Amino acid sequence: MEMKCFLCDSAGAMSESADHGNRQRIACVAPGCGSYVITSRAIRRLEEGGPNREVLIEMVRLANDRAGMLDISVASDGLLQTTEVLSAA
Ligand SMILES: [Zn+2]
Repeated sequence: MEMKCFLCDSAGAMSESADHGNRQRIACVAPGCGSYVITSRAIRRLEEGGPNREVLIEMVRLANDRAGMLDISVASDGLLQTTEVLSAA
């Protein structure tokens, strides 16, 4: 499915459902952005406008540079947390 990137708002990002629909795998084509995995809760948090998207984009790019992928989720304390996973996972 083609959509707007949750982090940089660019059109043309591709999304793919993962983790039984709990997560989406996003491939953003915008320069400086990249591929990441994000949970439905984290998407809602971003839509509410809390988290610093620029920091997240930077982390996505760094993970991609290392052939990894950033997994963005919401921790039990309600804050966004990120984990770097292998991009093949
Ligand atoms: Zn993006």
